Amino acid sequence: MASLSLKNVCKVYPNGFVAVKDFNLEIADQEFIIFVGPSGCGKSTTLRMIAGLEEISSGELWIGDKLVNDVEPKDRDIAMVFQNYALYPHMTVYDNMAFGLKLRKVPKADIDKAVHEAAKILDIEHLLDRKPKALSGGQRQRVAMGRAIVRSPKVFLMDEPLSNLDAKLRVQMRVEISKLHQRLQTTIIYVTHDQTEAMTLGTRIVVLKDGIIQQVDTPQNLYNTPNNIFVAGFIGSPQMNLVDAEVVGNGSSVTLKLSDTVSIALPADKSKPIIDGGYVGKTVVAGIRPEDIKDDEEFITKHSATTFEATVKVYELLGAEVNLHYDIADTTCTAKVNPRTTARPGDVVKFAMDISRLHVFDKETEQIIT
Ligand code: ATP
Repeated sequence: MASLSLKNVCKVYPNGFVAVKDFNLEIADQEFIIFVGPSGCGKSTTLRMIAGLEEISSGELWIGDKLVNDVEPKDRDIAMVFQNYALYPHMTVYDNMAFGLKLRKVPKADIDKAVHEAAKILDIEHLLDRKPKALSGGQRQRVAMGRAIVRSPKVFLMDEPLSNLDAKLRVQMRVEISKLHQRLQTTIIYVTHDQTEAMTLGTRIVVLKDGIIQQVDTPQNLYNTPNNIFVAGFIGSPQMNLVDAEVVGNGSSVTLKLSDTVSIALPADKSKPIIDGGYVGKTVVAGIRPEDIKDDEEFITKHSATTFEATVKVYELLGAEVNLHYDIADTTCTAKVNPRTTARPGDVVKFAMDISRLHVFDKETEQIIT
């Protein structure tokens, strides 16, 4: 069993800096867990504590049913793949992959079998005699993966393994890593600051900010029901529109006043938590994703209760869709619309939004209200 459990794990560096605070997470066997967040949020520190490369200041780390806080890295049954591959330049691909097993005094025939099996999975059998300098970036990345695979560890840790690759290769390797996970059926913990990588690879994603977990959920739930403004803004591209809004009460429902010209009347079910929370007369933050605002007739007819007008500032054609940028009060907003749109910069355009997809956040605590 390669389940992991982190209980109140903290990391305080010797200079007193708290890099990870009260990290609690249960990881089931064979999960593909992603740690994602902006630079410096504590992703690598957490991964390195799991690997045993960084001491845990307080809290407990369990792998299976064993408390491993004080277990040496080599005895944790974990393999780590780093962003810089860390291949030995003077050794062939074969020797790079075999190195860890040789150190463990694994019999030669078993090493040979493991290396060839891993090379086959990764499609690098034809490269086994080459030195790393004679490989492309993607091939080196595969060798680094191969070196981890040959050990058949219980858990793979990957720290931004694709960050040195160009955009096209990243997409290819992303698919490869997904396949690898299905094939190896091991637990993977993967660090990235790239939200596309996080969304496409993870069975669950841990969003971190300033060393504190913001939300742990499936990619779909993170996207559809973010807990707070940070998660709402971090997951999704272009990012969710987030606009300050004044709450005006009208009996059992409320209207959100986003600007002098844009007001949205909320249905009773969306209004209730706002009224119950005592937000009438206060400012909240309204959040809606670009794809939930459109300018085509069909959409406007369907969502006729939530239309508004705005002047288009920027038109971006992305092939299958068009992003229209416009301002609501002082905030630049985006609508992801059908490429057949006739809207161009300078046009006053009628938009509608799908109110069922609207999120409302507390401006002070930044937590979700509804
Ligand atoms: P990135 O995406 O940039 O790699 P990260 O989320 O992986 O960032 P960490 O490397 O875990 O971030 O670092 C978390 C915080 O801890 C950062 O603010 C970093 O400056 C700090 N930090 C890292 N190592 C040390 C150290 N040895 N001493 C003091 N502070 C450190």
